[in-house]
Amino acid sequence: MVFEDWKRGHDAEMGRKDNFEMASIHCKEETIMEESVWLQDLTWEDARRRITDAQNTIIVPVGSTEQHGYHLPLGSDTYVAITLAEDGARNAGVLVAPPLWFGWSPHHMVLPGTITVRPEILSELLYDIIASLRKHGIDKFVLVNGHRIVNVTWMQIAAERVKRQLGAQVVIFDPAYMSKSITRKLHWGPVGHAEEIESSHMWYRYPDRVKMERAVDNPHPPKVLYSVDPQYPDDTLCYVPSSPAEMAASVEVAGGTAGEPSKASMEGGRQYHDHLVDRLVTVIQTLQQAS
Ligand SMILES: [Zn+2]
Repeated sequence: MVFEDWKRGHDAEMGRKDNFEMASIHCKEETIMEESVWLQDLTWEDARRRITDAQNTIIVPVGSTEQHGYHLPLGSDTYVAITLAEDGARNAGVLVAPPLWFGWSPHHMVLPGTITVRPEILSELLYDIIASLRKHGIDKFVLVNGHRIVNVTWMQIAAERVKRQLGAQVVIFDPAYMSKSITRKLHWGPVGHAEEIESSHMWYRYPDRVKMERAVDNPHPPKVLYSVDPQYPDDTLCYVPSSPAEMAASVEVAGGTAGEPSKASMEGGRQYHDHLVDRLVTVIQTLQQAS
């Protein structure tokens, strides 16, 4: 309010209030389609308007910074969450919060560049981010997770608390679990790490950040007793990150990759991306219709 009072006085003093408003109206239609979906790109005035336009809905991309084999960048999990969030937000007319670049990655600490944050800290951090946005009127949150099942556990804890304590709606959109039909259609193997799924997606969306010529396959061993894989009918879900010794053995084989990036393609990445963006838009619209 203080700023608005100042601005009113300032405009009057400068004798350009009318011109300012005319220019705003004139520019409005031209600029509105080009406005960023990212909260951090907006002024607070624009944020206030856009939150209303978005029906109080925001996407929060959550990823990690961790090793992704010889061929993918450390930020891959965050990049895939960012690109899905950005296209989903554009198509659904909602906003995107600044991404969380950190996840729970203790098993990848065997290779340089990996950053791991304790899950209890991450859960608190996510809750505080959502609580801040809730204060500004946002009451529908779509958490896009790029770090697969490892992030899901602590995100669930934060999401439950948001619903109970903040009176907001929150859903977790996990690409691995939302892409089973398209990955089957593309004849891709199980979820691993830096495998054909992540590699195709990164290759399609960030071709200048992948080094596919360096990729080394590390085919999945046959499933005997226990498996965590969305495509596997007997998925046991009860994931526990590998120990440093287990990871060190895997790193010896293919530099941190689990799966077959040689099956990756940009076209597959395109189909996978478009499929997930469509599903994300449906999730957003369903959430908005339900409130
Ligand atoms: Zn990944």
